[in-house]
Amino acid sequence: MNKGQAEKRIQELRKQTEYYANKYYDEDKPEISDYEYDMLIFELRNLEKEFPELASTESLTQRVGGRVKEGLKKVEHKIPLLSLQDIFNLEEIKEYVEKIQAQAKNKKIENSSFVVETKIDGLTAALEYKDGVLVRGATRGNGTIGEDVTENLKTIKNIPKKLKEKIDIIVRGEVFISKADFEKMNQEREANEEPLFANARNAAAGSLRHLDIDVAKSRPLDMYVYNVQEIEGKEFNSHYEELKYLEELGFNVNPVKIHCQNIDEVIEAIEEIGRKRDELTFGIDGAVIKVDDLNFREILGTTAKSPRWQIAYKYPPEQKATKLIDIVCNVGRTGVITPLAILNPIQVAGSTISKTTLHNQDFIKEKEIMIGDTVIIQKAGDVIPEIVKVDKEKRTGEEIPFEMPTVCPICGAPAVREEGEAAVRCTGIECSAKLYRNLVHFVSREAMNIERMGGNIIEQLLNRNLINNIADIYTLKYEDVLALKKNGKKFAENLINAIESSKNNELHRLITALGIRHIGTKASKTLARKYKTLDKLAETNFEELSNIDDIGPIVANSIIEFFNQEQTKDLIKRLKQYGVNMEEHKEKGTDNRFKGLTFVITGTLDNFSRNEASDIIEKFGGKASSTVSSKTSYLLAGENGGSKLTKAQTLGVKIIDEQEFMKMIK
Ligand code: NAD
Repeated sequence: MNKGQAEKRIQELRKQTEYYANKYYDEDKPEISDYEYDMLIFELRNLEKEFPELASTESLTQRVGGRVKEGLKKVEHKIPLLSLQDIFNLEEIKEYVEKIQAQAKNKKIENSSFVVETKIDGLTAALEYKDGVLVRGATRGNGTIGEDVTENLKTIKNIPKKLKEKIDIIVRGEVFISKADFEKMNQEREANEEPLFANARNAAAGSLRHLDIDVAKSRPLDMYVYNVQEIEGKEFNSHYEELKYLEELGFNVNPVKIHCQNIDEVIEAIEEIGRKRDELTFGIDGAVIKVDDLNFREILGTTAKSPRWQIAYKYPPEQKATKLIDIVCNVGRTGVITPLAILNPIQVAGSTISKTTLHNQDFIKEKEIMIGDTVIIQKAGDVIPEIVKVDKEKRTGEEIPFEMPTVCPICGAPAVREEGEAAVRCTGIECSAKLYRNLVHFVSREAMNIERMGGNIIEQLLNRNLINNIADIYTLKYEDVLALKKNGKKFAENLINAIESSKNNELHRLITALGIRHIGTKASKTLARKYKTLDKLAETNFEELSNIDDIGPIVANSIIEFFNQEQTKDLIKRLKQYGVNMEEHKEKGTDNRFKGLTFVITGTLDNFSRNEASDIIEKFGGKASSTVSSKTSYLLAGENGGSKLTKAQTLGVKIIDEQEFMKMIK
């Protein structure tokens, strides 16, 4: 590579690493794996080494990544919290250890030993104690300026708030979430359909840096301490001594620390940690090799990014091959259908993997995954299993391609994938997978507005089999709901009354409640106004719908599809049976000045939306139509009228502007 090419590539790599580091450190939402990120940094560092004149202190190879989050107080670190230089092969570790030991010999340092520790996969925090009392805690930030997270740190059980000695000390350690807690936390999030954390490190960082202390408190954070940054009135000769003292003070100290005298012991320690990695209760992303002698550390010093007296070895992610036996589909509470790979069970990084998500059709297509394939599995961030690739060499020709189902595997309603979306969704209103959500939506304030029927009550009604579908709400009796609450008489009375009065709701509320995809309250009002009864809306066609302002082809299709389904027809039939109103109430206004007149509105109005103008016309007994014909009485034309204006001119329809309309409604 010549200098010009190198410069171009360096710029590219800096831009990419800057972007990914921002996602990782500042937003706690990584977009690529740590390994992929490390490989970009690795390439960048090598190019900067080869072309030193292109090096820059702004490059992420030379500075600590991370910024202070808005909303958190800044803290200046007395002793900078630096990063570590990474090494990815044991040869380079050997070179490093040999170089350091040669320097020790030169400087006549007696203790040339090392301590090899687990590199915990969390985020750094510094804890400051005055007279043995925790007074401040901070994150690393850019190494010099960190974030004040004292209160959040105080919620962590394993951090001593008071030490066993009244001493002034600053210590450094790693805040993390254990493997088991992380798995449990993500399972709970999955059950609640909340976005999953990509890995334990980001979950820990997001939690510790959360602006809401209650959120931080609810997360299972833990901390291991691994360094004395500063101490008053005590002196130590070695790191190993320091760690022992930290334990005596009451700290939870990094449990894996192996004292090594020579290069062979260092390599053996790294390999041992690698072998035992799966058994550890916390995730690690490497081993840290540290010079033990503290005076020697002073002599070795630091670069702007990392100390010269320690280095990190990064293990490659463990990958295993297994057979993909089948692909099944799960339907989530929002109706999203997710393909799941069923695997021949296999041990990867400490746990048995028998299934893994395939996300969506695009993922399957991109990785060219077929049923029967041999796939390579890896655990992302050491926790979530993922398929890295297919081993195509192992194909026998018996493999079967997979297509997402066109109907929901649970209720049989059409499953659709809309433009611009990766997910395929079930469209059935009575699908049991979605029932809870659909019920919550049906009774919500903007829909049927059935007060007192919150999520908790719905859950109880479902668990007790008192309702099995939406229409069952209207079969509930006072005695049924009495038992849902202690001393529940008043509650039962109110709930039954609320259900009863919802039967008289206006039509647009029912349309909203049906939860037709893309139909919110505004579109429901437009449809109710246009069709007047639910039956008429159910019989409409694509053309008619497309002629309505604000209803585009995707929305029109969604409406037609919805009313074509048997489950929808059944639901409407039952709701009708129970007396739920299906008609738009007639306006009771007495001013019928527009009686017999038909208006069409075109263009943009200054004082009203087109819907509001239609409401006013109907309130005065007129009709608001969307198509111009010879029967149209007035065309109300706003800015940029378009084809309706031309048609009205051709047909000789009277055209009025907004000012005239305002006079007419005064
Ligand atoms: P680093 O995480 O590689 O190493 C430094 C950190 O190691 C320290 O800050 C400390 O928090 C930690 N550590 C854990 N145990 C330790 C121990 N026993 N002794 C000393 N330190 C210990 O370096 P970094 O600068 O914080 O960030 C780089 C890391 O972040 C890499 O792992 C990289 O993959 C990841 N990253 C990932 C992305 C992404 O998009 N996936 C982006 C940016 C950074």
